[in-house]
Amino acid sequence: MTQHSKGTALITGASSGIGAIYADRLARRGYDLILVARNQSRLNDLAKRLTDETGRAIEVVAADLGNKHDLGRLEQVLQTDASITLLVNNAGVGATAPLLDSDIDKMEEMIMLNVNALTRLTYAAVPRFVARGTGAIINIASIVGIAPELLNGVYGGSKAFVLAFTQSLQKELSEKNIRVQAVLPGATATDFWGTAGTPLEHVPSEIVMPAEEMVDAALAGFDLGEQVTIPALPNVADWELYEAARQKLMPNLSLRAPAARYLNAAG
Ligand code: NAP
Repeated sequence: MTQHSKGTALITGASSGIGAIYADRLARRGYDLILVARNQSRLNDLAKRLTDETGRAIEVVAADLGNKHDLGRLEQVLQTDASITLLVNNAGVGATAPLLDSDIDKMEEMIMLNVNALTRLTYAAVPRFVARGTGAIINIASIVGIAPELLNGVYGGSKAFVLAFTQSLQKELSEKNIRVQAVLPGATATDFWGTAGTPLEHVPSEIVMPAEEMVDAALAGFDLGEQVTIPALPNVADWELYEAARQKLMPNLSLRAPAARYLNAAG
């Protein structure tokens, strides 16, 4: 059944895994779509299936977000396409090896995708959202953003950036009617793990969530108005306590004098 359009959602990393499921769910919710990833044939197959099943208008943009020229093309789309009402910054890669077993060029590529591309696309989208007085961004971070000891440290650091950037934007943009949600998935059953260097079969199954359930929970969190959604966390009060502890630090993080313990230690 064709429903009234909610505008267009631009989804990065839509050719597989979490991004492809966002595409499915958002099309069924009445969004037209712009699907972005490198693998054009996978994007085309998904676009055809979703057009057949939902009747939505679906465009495909094959782009390598690690490439300045491709990224620039996407930024231009976000700056000029007035139909875009939702940006899903989902494209990302991970790594599981420690520093001593990692290649620095691969780490830099990861930062360019997970941090640089997400930042540039957000900067391209926000001024138009602000000008029209509405819009939303969903940033796919990870639990390693708050638990960087679990996997590769550059990956954890890149996702800590996504969380911190999102929290800052929530403060900057909430009064302008722009929603920004950070999603922190735990291990999710996608190609991510093979690409990151640890096959999914090596991850204990009790900590791995099916990607469909992860995305449905994240969208439920979006509907609830959550700023940060951790799909696996059983008790939301645990996150609220963590966040309250962070807020409690705020008034004392920047003061004129060092803390007494340092003055005492310095004699
Ligand atoms: P995935 O199935 O490997 O999907 C990654 C997506 O990103 C693919 O569509 C891939 O498409 C795209 N991509 C990779 N490099 C790209 C590039 N240079 N330019 C454009 N697109 C690129 O893994 P996933 O689990 O769905 O990952 C999606 C997001 O979830 C990532 O940000 C990841 O960090 C996050 N996440 C995943 C897990 C997990 O356990 N799976 C947990 C927490 C967070 P192409 O190869 O066609 O370009």
